[in-house]
Amino acid sequence: MFKRQALNLLEHPEKAKSWISTFDNVLCDCDGVLWLYDKEIEGSVKVVNRLKQIGKGVYFATNNSTKTRPEFLEKAIRMGFNMKEDEILSTAYTAAQYLKNRNFNKKVYVIGSTGITKELDAVGIKHTGVGPDYLETNLANFLNNKFEQDDEVGAVIVGFDEYFSFPKMTRAASYLSKPNSIFIATNTDERFPMPNFVVPGTGSIVKAIETCAERSAVVMGKPNANMCEPLLVDGKITPERTLMVGDRCNTDILFGNNCGFQTLLVGTGIHNLDDVSCYKKSNDEETHKLIPDAYLPKFGDLLQFLL
Ligand SMILES: [Mg+2]
Repeated sequence: MFKRQALNLLEHPEKAKSWISTFDNVLCDCDGVLWLYDKEIEGSVKVVNRLKQIGKGVYFATNNSTKTRPEFLEKAIRMGFNMKEDEILSTAYTAAQYLKNRNFNKKVYVIGSTGITKELDAVGIKHTGVGPDYLETNLANFLNNKFEQDDEVGAVIVGFDEYFSFPKMTRAASYLSKPNSIFIATNTDERFPMPNFVVPGTGSIVKAIETCAERSAVVMGKPNANMCEPLLVDGKITPERTLMVGDRCNTDILFGNNCGFQTLLVGTGIHNLDDVSCYKKSNDEETHKLIPDAYLPKFGDLLQFLL
């Protein structure tokens, strides 16, 4: 309706009200839209629950690989969100499903957390690697005494790993040099939305592994359209009548545009209207895919337009 205009809905309330009827389903990013860590972003519970009340379908698409779907659900319900497990699309879940659908019967080397390994356990796939793995003395000692390759490993999944280390990088790249090994990244987010620090995100780790493995990963998360495939296959959503809400243009908004959805950027996370102004000045068609249709300072601001 406002195709790639980044229309500030607060300045156009009448347009915003009529726009609501142009979508049936909403896909929400979580970190930076609904919550920041364990704290709800003001108004997000009310707006999600109200959207459902007026008959919109709401799905939750998160690139965060550190939690399983039941763990996401528990966190959301604790905050007051009306949410069900089958409304959650997480990258750890999608990665496990990806291997299951390809009848993968070997072991996975995981750079990541129990968010990934629990989803692998749920589909009966063996795994190794999760937890601390640091260089005790030096590289020579590690290579000669600590590094034994597991012949059963046939895939590497890379997600967020706070214990990421030189030994982990060496193991992953070595497994990825095997012919026919599968290389999956949960997502490519560069950093976490935090006010005073730069915390490296999964994308930083993925780039490191891709560089030393000399090959590219299959990415499960946004902006890859893989993320919403289950919803499209089951006919649960119609792309042009679906709204994607996110705080990050190069994942959420690009994902929405890649899938043919309408898009709403909220200013409670990574990107804001200043970033969008830069994209608008670009002559590059790919950069224009980062421009949202609409903008709100926070997701909760949508509530006033939901009659
Ligand atoms: Mg986000």
